Amino acid sequence: MPVLTRVTPTRRLAHQLRAQYDERCLASGLEAWATPDIVTWDELIERMFLLDRAAGRLGGRWLSDRAAQLLWERIVREDADVGPLVSVGGLARAAQQSWRRAHEWRLPLESADSGESAETEAFARWCRRYVALLQEHGWVDAATAPTLVHPAAADPGVELTGFDRLTPLQESLVARWSSEGLEVRRHRAPPSAAVPRRVSCRDRIAEFDAAARWAAAQLDGRDDLRLAIVVPDLVRHRDEVRRCVERVLVPLTGTTAGPAAESQAFELAAARPLAEQPVVAAALEVLDAFVHAPDLGLLDRLLRNPFLFDAGAETPARARLGARLRRAGIPGIGLGGLERLAAAQGCTSLAGVLADAREVMSRWPEKSLPSTCSEKILELLSSMGWPGTAPDSNEHQTVRRWRSLVSELGGCDEFAGRVSRAEAVGLLREMAGSVRFEPQELRAPLLVIDPETCAGMGFDALWVCGLDASRWPPPAAPDPFLPRSLQRQHGIPRATAELAAAEARMVLDRLIGSADAVVLSVAEMDDDTPLLPSPLLDGVTPGEVVGWWPTPRLAQIQHERRPLLETLEEPGMPALLAHELGRGGARLLELQSACPFRAQAELRLGARALDEPALGVGAAERGELVHAVLAALWREWGSNATLTTLDERGLREVVASTVAATLADARASADEVLQHLLRLEAQWLEARVLEIVAADRARPPFIVESVEQAHTLHLGELTLELRPDRVDRLADGSLAVIDYKTGANADVKTWLGERPTLPQLPAYVQALGPARVGAVAFARLRVGETGYAGLAREAVLFPGLKVPGTRGAPRGCDSWDGLLADWQRRLEVLSREYAGGDARLAADPARSCEYCHLRALCRIAESDAANGDEDSDGD
Ligand code: SF4
Repeated sequence: MPVLTRVTPTRRLAHQLRAQYDERCLASGLEAWATPDIVTWDELIERMFLLDRAAGRLGGRWLSDRAAQLLWERIVREDADVGPLVSVGGLARAAQQSWRRAHEWRLPLESADSGESAETEAFARWCRRYVALLQEHGWVDAATAPTLVHPAAADPGVELTGFDRLTPLQESLVARWSSEGLEVRRHRAPPSAAVPRRVSCRDRIAEFDAAARWAAAQLDGRDDLRLAIVVPDLVRHRDEVRRCVERVLVPLTGTTAGPAAESQAFELAAARPLAEQPVVAAALEVLDAFVHAPDLGLLDRLLRNPFLFDAGAETPARARLGARLRRAGIPGIGLGGLERLAAAQGCTSLAGVLADAREVMSRWPEKSLPSTCSEKILELLSSMGWPGTAPDSNEHQTVRRWRSLVSELGGCDEFAGRVSRAEAVGLLREMAGSVRFEPQELRAPLLVIDPETCAGMGFDALWVCGLDASRWPPPAAPDPFLPRSLQRQHGIPRATAELAAAEARMVLDRLIGSADAVVLSVAEMDDDTPLLPSPLLDGVTPGEVVGWWPTPRLAQIQHERRPLLETLEEPGMPALLAHELGRGGARLLELQSACPFRAQAELRLGARALDEPALGVGAAERGELVHAVLAALWREWGSNATLTTLDERGLREVVASTVAATLADARASADEVLQHLLRLEAQWLEARVLEIVAADRARPPFIVESVEQAHTLHLGELTLELRPDRVDRLADGSLAVIDYKTGANADVKTWLGERPTLPQLPAYVQALGPARVGAVAFARLRVGETGYAGLAREAVLFPGLKVPGTRGAPRGCDSWDGLLADWQRRLEVLSREYAGGDARLAADPARSCEYCHLRALCRIAESDAANGDEDSDGD
C-alpha cells in the first residue's frame, strides 16, 4: 500500500504525529524505521513547487515569506501616500496577511479596489505593484503557488489531518488533484462522546489555578494520561498560566536547587519570539556591541554573556572586570579598550576572542549585500565562541533555527540591496522578533495550549478556560484591507459577529470532541468588571470539579525538605587583628553607626555594591566636582578678605574658569550628548558656587587654615585617617570645620543621638582637638537651599549657626562643651564595637536599610518573616 504524505495545519501537530509514530515503532520492538512523511500545508506547497520546477513542469523562483515581507515593506515605503509616522514594517506585515487571506478565500483581487476606504484603495495599489514585481522577476510566493503546483509533485497522495475545515482554495485544489488521479484522503478522529461540565471561578487567576489543581488530581499516581489545559490567547497570558501551573505541579520551582521552570511535569505550547530565546538574545547583543559604539551597559552584558568562549572558566575574572568598568565609568572605551583591559585583568580567553572578532569586523565592509552580512555575522559569532561548548537540546534547536534565519537574511540580496552593518543586524533582530519559536523536546503528560494549535489532537481529559461572553465568541475583526462586503460574501472567519460566532461554535465542538472528559470554565470577574458566561455554554450542565488537589504551600514544602541544621551561636565577626586597626576613615564610623553588620561586611569582607553606569553626571560625581572646584578656589584665595578685591564680574570669571578647568578632562572624552550634559552641569556648578561664596563674603573675616588636609584620629584601638573638606580660622583664633554637601541630608540632627547618622564632622572635631574648634558646619549646595547650617560655640563666630543651649538650637545639645563630650563618648563606643567585630543588624532598619545593597547577605527580611508574616505566597 503506498505511503501517503500526511499534511497538518500546524507544525506542533506534525511533530506530535511523528513522536507518536516513533513511540509505536519502539513499542512494537523495532530498532530502526523510516521517518514518516509528515509536513504542514505550507511545507507541502513549497516542496511541490520545487519538485515541479526540478522536473521542468514549472518555471520561476520561490519567494520565501521573509523575502516577500521585505518586498511588501519596499512597496509600502515607496508609496507617497503613506505618512511618515506609520510603522512601515507593521503595515507591510498586515498587507502581506491580507494578500494571503484574499488568495485562501479566493477573493477576486480586481474587486479589492472598490473605493470602500483609504485602506482598501492603498491595498489595491500595493497589490498591483506586488504583482508587477512578481512577474518582472519570475517570483512565486506561498499565496500564489497553490494554484500552480502540479498534482504529480504530491504523488502518490496526501492525507489531510487535523484541519477544522479547508479554505475555499484548499477545497478547490483537493477537488482538482482528486480529479487528476491523486489520492487525497481526509482524516478526522471520531469525536468522543464526552459530556462537558461547566464550572465558574472567581477570576482568571483562580481559573488557571483551578485548572492546574484539576490536572494535578487527575495525574496523581498516573503516568499514562495525556491532559490539556486550553487557554485562548495563550501567548498573552503565558506568564500568568505558567506561574499558576508551576505553583501546583512543580511547587519547588524557584527554590534553591529546585527544578528548572517548565520541567517535565507540563509543557507550555506558547511560542516566544526567537529573539527572546536566551541564546539568540545573547547573539544579538554580541552583534549590537560590534556594529554600534557600545555603551558601558552593553559591555557589561557582554562580560556576563554565558554563551561566549570560556565564559564559565572566566566568570570570576569577567565579573571583576565588569565591576572595574562600572567603577571607572570610562565612556567610549570601545571594544579595543575592553580587549586591552581584559588581557590586563586575567580574562585572556575573552581578550583572544575579541581580537579575533575585531579582525572579522575589519573584513566586513561598512556597506554590503545581505549575503555578505550573513556570512560575516556567522563568522563573527563563531569567532566569539558563541553559542559555547555545551548547548543543551533546547539551545541546540534554537541555534539551528537562528542559523537558518541568518541564511534567510543572506537570501535577501535582491530585495534589500546594499545595507550597512547596523542595518543588517537591525533587520536580523526584526526577523528574529517576528519568528515564533519553541524548542520541541518535552513529552510531558500535561499540555497547556491555545485552541487553534491543538487542532487535530486528542486527549484523555481537557479543561478549556476563558469561556466568558466577552471572549467566546471573540468580537468581529474584519480585515481592514479587504472590502467588507467581499469578506461577508466569502465567509471569512470573524468578518462579522455571526461568522465569529460560527467559528467559535465549531472550535468549541471540536475541543469537546477531542477528549473523554471535558471541563469548560468561566471567570466571574475581570478586575472589577463582572463577566457573563458565553452563550455557547447554554445547555452545558453546571458541575463541581471532581477530585481536588490541595493548595501547595511553599513554606510548608521548604520546611518538609529542610536539611538537618546544626545551630551555632555567632554574635559577630572576630575582633580586628593588629594590622586591621590602622585602616579606615570617616566612612567606617558612618557605617558602624547605621549598621554594624554593614560596616563589617563592606570594610572587612569587601561586600561593596557594583557601581551603576549612568548617563551624564551622577550624584557621586557631582559631589566630587563641587569639592574639586571649591578646593581649587580656596587654595587660591586663602581668606575671605580676598573676595573683597574681586568685583561681581571678576568673581564670576574666576569661578567659571575654575569650573571649566575642573571639567576639562571629562569634556575631552565626552560624546555629543555628554558634552551637552556637562555644559548643563557647569551652569549648575557656577550658580551654586557663587551662592556659597556670597555667604562666605558676608561672614566675619576668616583665614582658610587647610583644604582637604589629612589628619589622624586615634579613637580607642582604631587609628583613622580623616580629611575635612575645609578648616577656617575664625576671628577669635578658633577653628570652623566645614563639610560640603549636595544631598538633602545635610542637617544638624544627623550629628545628634546615640548613633549619629553622619558622624564625620564630630570625628573631625576630635581629630583637630575639641578645645581648638569653635564651629562645625555643613556648606549646603542645593538649588534654593545653598548656605551654611551647623553649630557654633558663640553666635558671633559664625553668624547663622545655632548655639547649643540657646533658643532655636536642636534638642539633645544643651551646651557646646556637653556636645563635644557626648561626641567623644559616642565615637569611642562606635570604635569599640567595630574593633570588637560587632556585626549586629541595623538597630533602625527603616532608616538604615532602604538604600542598602546587602539585604540578601544579612537576611534582614527573614528576621522580619520570623516575626510573623510567613504565608506571603498566599492562598
Ligand atoms: S540591609 Fe539593613 S541590616 Fe542589612 S546590612 Fe544593610 S543596613 Fe544592615
